[in-house]
Amino acid sequence: MLDTDFFRRWMTVTAAAVDREAAYLTDLDSAIGDADHGSNLQRGFAAVTAALEKEPPQTPGAVLMLAGRQLISTVGGASGPLYGTLLRRTGKELGDASAVTRDELARALAAGVAAVAKLGGAAAGDKTMLDALLPAAEALGTSFEAALDAARAGALATVPLQARKGRASYLGERSIGHQDPGATSAALLIAALAAAGSADGGAA
Ligand code: ADP
Ligand code: MG
Repeated sequence: MLDTDFFRRWMTVTAAAVDREAAYLTDLDSAIGDADHGSNLQRGFAAVTAALEKEPPQTPGAVLMLAGRQLISTVGGASGPLYGTLLRRTGKELGDASAVTRDELARALAAGVAAVAKLGGAAAGDKTMLDALLPAAEALGTSFEAALDAARAGALATVPLQARKGRASYLGERSIGHQDPGATSAALLIAALAAAGSADGGAA
């Protein structure tokens, strides 16, 4: 079972990955956006880590809802409300259970991803974070490793796409040939989930 500690670990491992990859994420965003994706998420996940330490939540759902609230209130760009919605909605779906199965998390994450699609009006193939999140949520029903592979493949698959949503869409055809920053950070989020999962023995 995935307990509250697992979810805290997921968030702190994500924060560390975002710190490590911030310059890369910002480089990707400088090609097809406004060069702030790395710093946006760094600020957001630093606030998540601080909030988790200050008022440790007592359930998996509460961890994700707190993290989502922090992202919404601290990240200025489009990605803040979108990632915030992802985590808040996923957390809400988990209810007040003290531990959940990987399958339950997969269903909750799918609901969170659907909420992101609704909020941003984007679909698969629009060259956004959804191109990593949609396949990852589906593959999480199989295993953590499958979710990781699906997220990475989804992020890579954004390279030849033309952006239809967000800032990159203003570039039209010139957005082709670049990896989407948000799909790349989404793959980091799922990699952190898989890392938290393997520390758990992958048994959930
Ligand atoms: P901003 O575009 O406001 O500068 P960020 O740079 O932090 O925000 O995030 C950009 C990322 O947000 C994009 O690479 C894309 O993945 C994601 N994104 C932007 N708009 C949407 C949308 N409508 N739906 C889903 N994801 C989106
Ligand atoms: Mg940006």
